[in-house]
Formats: sequence, structure tokens, C-alpha cells
Amino acid sequence: MAEIDYYEVLEVSRNCSGAELKKSYRKLALKYHPDRNPDDKEAEEKFKMINEAYQVLSDEEKRSIYDRYGKAGLEGQGGMGGGFGASSMDDIMDIFNSMFGGGGFSRRSRREAGQTYALDFEIELTLAFHEAVFGCTKEVDITYKVACESCEGTGAKDAKLETCSYCGGQGQVLMRQGPMQFAQTCPQCQGEGKKIQNPCPSCQGKGFRLEEDTVSITIPAGIDSGHRLRAQGYGNEGRGKKRGDMFITFLVKEDENFVRNGTDIYIEVPVFFTQSILGETISIPTLDGEIDLHLNKGTTDKEQYVFPGEGVVDVHTGEKGRLIAQIKLILPKKTDDKQKELLEKLQESYGVESRPHTSSFEDAFKRVKSWFKS
Ligand SMILES: [Zn+2]
Ligand SMILES: [Zn+2]
Repeated sequence: MAEIDYYEVLEVSRNCSGAELKKSYRKLALKYHPDRNPDDKEAEEKFKMINEAYQVLSDEEKRSIYDRYGKAGLEGQGGMGGGFGASSMDDIMDIFNSMFGGGGFSRRSRREAGQTYALDFEIELTLAFHEAVFGCTKEVDITYKVACESCEGTGAKDAKLETCSYCGGQGQVLMRQGPMQFAQTCPQCQGEGKKIQNPCPSCQGKGFRLEEDTVSITIPAGIDSGHRLRAQGYGNEGRGKKRGDMFITFLVKEDENFVRNGTDIYIEVPVFFTQSILGETISIPTLDGEIDLHLNKGTTDKEQYVFPGEGVVDVHTGEKGRLIAQIKLILPKKTDDKQKELLEKLQESYGVESRPHTSSFEDAFKRVKSWFKS
């Protein structure tokens, strides 16, 4: 399949500025916005493509990769149709709204017509470090909405909704912003075109009752803070008994020893000065066991040893990151007489090498003296 050029999609030249890009994106996104083109699959596809193109070209780094290598260069960059990328319409709407501060259109979460609540909802889940690294199954207590039987989720008595007078039932009102005029979701009826005149007595007009459940969620290995997972069919229940989705955003706790940076893991390795001089082999912990670290003779403080493939698995690609061991040089806190004697002997044996400051400052001493010669 031929690749669609992002610049063509956004109707801009290859050397256009960020401002031109944004202007064109805005114009096209508004034109093909789903709120303006309900049930138009073609417009929806076009809207998705416009957003994909803008996501890439508005990001300087991604744009330069795209310019050099095309779409293929962006694979594995995240956000390009991967499991957690902006592939769903809801995610795209989030991006669109964050770009325009939600001023243009309100988030159009999936809902059934006339229903008071959205089918999807979001929860936050905290994971222990190892749960995120290795994946796990979590029992999660959730509360979800079920359509009120008496009003079929409308919130209106006998499910009788009145036409919204603010927008005349259109669901949209025309707004003017600068030289542009565009349709905005009606703020009175949130785009429904209908309003509740008499609230339903059994749910007080809410349109739903709450249901509790404990669900088992399988979490893939490699999850990190900020990742979002869609649990399909765990959302609110609509009038037609169909359930929406639950979105889970993760917060991952820190570990005492391992510090995580994406798929890389850092660990600080304390090394005694004699070990660093002699270049010992020591055993250090990895995520799933231990590994030999061969210290170079004369290892210095903060020196790093890299072990590829010992990091966290990438949730998109399945590839593992690195384990990076950073040396923390430890000097003795106290020295007894015997040790002092040994150290003095040792120092002596090194001769001039044990006094590096003398040779490096020799010239400086002479120069400073010469400045004050009268
Ligand atoms: Zn009701
Ligand atoms: Zn209205």
C-alpha cells in the first residue's frame, strides 16, 4: 500500500513553519470533526489521518525522523498505532481537545443517544515495582453505572425528553473566534439536542444506578507510570445492556535498589577502594537473579557498567532494556594503627606516583612566586 504523505494530508509544504502547520491542522480538523460529520466513516478516517499527521509533524524530533526515513522510521517510537498509542477515537479526541484547550468541542465520549452518562470511564491503578516490570493479574474493585430501568438512562420521567430551546434541537451552536466561524457543541444540552423537563423519580434524574464488581485485570509486563490500558467491556452499561470500556492509568511505585528509566534499570553498586584498585569480580542483583560484574582495575567513582537485555521489557516491542550498574566508591571511615602503617608503606612503594599533586602543581608554584618578585 502506498504511504500517504503527512504534508499532503495537512495540505502544507515540506518547509512550512509550526504556525502554518497548526493553522492548517486546525482548519482541516474542524472540517472533518466527527461532531460535524456524524456517522460519516470517510470523514472519521480523514480526521484520524489528520491527527496522526499533526502528531508527527508538530513534534520537531518526529518530524525530522519522518523527513529522513518516512513512516518506517517512526515505528517503535511509541504512539504510532501501538497498543497504547493514540489509535482509538477517544484518544484522538483527547489530543485534539488538549491542543485547543477543549474550547472547540467538548470530549465526545461514547454514549447512547439521550443517555445522561458516558459508556467509558477511567480509573487509576497503583502497581508495585515488580508487578509493573513482570506483569500481573490484579483484582480491582470497580463501581460502574447501569441505565435506570424506569427512564432508560435518559434521566427524564417516562423517558420523555424535550427539544433543547438553546440550539433548537440541533445539538450545535455557531461560534465565532477571530475570523473563523465554527460549530460548537451546545452547552445547554451537551450536543444531545434534547433536555430533561421532568426528572425521573426513581433515579432523581441521574439516569443510572451504581453497580459494584470485582474484576480481574491482566496487566502486561513492562507497564510504566502514565501508561494507559483499555479494559474492553468493563465500562458503564448502556440502555442496550452493552458495556463501554474502562481505561486504566498506571502509577508505578519505586524500588529500594533499582531505579527505572523507561526500559533501562539503574543500580548503584558500592565498591570498597581496595576492590576498585584490584579489580575484583563481584555479584550484583538483576531483575530476575544475579550477575557477575568484573570490575576493571582502577575503577573510578560513578563508572558505569552496562548489561544489555537485563532491563525491563518494552510493552510495545517486547525488547528488553539495559541494566546499568553505577559504581559508588567507598573509602574506609576509620583506620587503626596497623592499617595506617600498611597504607604508609603502600604509599611509599608508589613513590612519586603517590604524590600526583606535586608534579601537576610544580609549574604553578613557580609561576605564582614569579608574580611577586620585585
Ligand atoms: Zn431514571
Ligand atoms: Zn442544545
